[in-house]
Amino acid sequence: MRVSVDLDVCQGHGVCHMSAPAVFELDPDDAHSIVQLDPVPAEYEADARIAADACPERAITVIP
Ligand code: SF4
Repeated sequence: MRVSVDLDVCQGHGVCHMSAPAVFELDPDDAHSIVQLDPVPAEYEADARIAADACPERAITVIP
């Protein structure tokens, strides 16, 4: 699977990084989310889905 972040929607809360630190890093300048693993390896898929569900802005799209 893959994940993408809509940077027009992302507000830099960092919940994604806390939920799936291997998948989402935060831009040091504006704290917007940067996808680190594309595609997402199988062992991180569950964490990535949790992050997508937890994002307060619904900025993360999961692509099966
Ligand atoms: S949780 Fe959502 S809004 Fe917050 S940094 Fe991650 S993608 Fe952006």
